[in-house]
Amino acid sequence: MRQTESTAIVLRAVNYRENDRMLTLFSPTRGRVEALARGCRRPKSPLLNAAEMFALGDFELYEKGHHLTVTGATLTETFYPLRQDFDRLACGTYLLSLCESTIQPGQEAQELFMLLLHTLSRLTFTDQPWRPLLAGFLTHYTACEGFRPRLKHCVRCGRRLEDQETVWFDLREGGVVCEACRGAGMPILPRGQRQWLEMALTHGSAAWVDTPEMYAPLGLMQRYVEQRVEQPLRAAGMLGTIEREERQMEKDES
Ligand SMILES: [Zn+2]
Repeated sequence: MRQTESTAIVLRAVNYRENDRMLTLFSPTRGRVEALARGCRRPKSPLLNAAEMFALGDFELYEKGHHLTVTGATLTETFYPLRQDFDRLACGTYLLSLCESTIQPGQEAQELFMLLLHTLSRLTFTDQPWRPLLAGFLTHYTACEGFRPRLKHCVRCGRRLEDQETVWFDLREGGVVCEACRGAGMPILPRGQRQWLEMALTHGSAAWVDTPEMYAPLGLMQRYVEQRVEQPLRAAGMLGTIEREERQMEKDES
């Protein structure tokens, strides 16, 4: 038996029994943590707001054997305005779902935690368009997880491709390929999108916006990330419309 405290964000909250909720927390030092919030659905419960998705704060946890119970929480942010815009909420839910599929219990993940908080803050408290913001998150996510896309040389023959107008993207190898090496069905990556990826990798979330010259390959990054994450993503269906639109756009371009 021991009492601990962890900074964490609620990735998922599932109703349990009459008034309880099982929370999936993301702690930058402890990774994924499952903890029961007893009585949190009672209107006067001190855990009422802490037992919601997106709740960020310091959670007091009581551990007994393998079971954890939330005994208190000091909230620092709820990202409440996200609920007022369906697209932004779907996007935020997708970020949580991706983190839930990625982090393991006991795994330290400071970088991914900070990336999540920065992106959620931008999504909630600025007017920055969410599509390039999501693409920027996914791009940095690949860097955090060790499969950052290779953009300068063909991943098959090694040819330098920086001055090529159009290249293709090999989802399995995780990088650009030249025209001679491209395989059937590989998505095209126009110069403006490749430059956007390079920019996104070197800049923070404030810069993840589209311009007429550089624009985010959102559908491509989504496909690239989702094929690496082995579990299906809960919120992917909500964003399904985006992917279809993106595929159409890519088809139109090619
Ligand atoms: Zn090649």
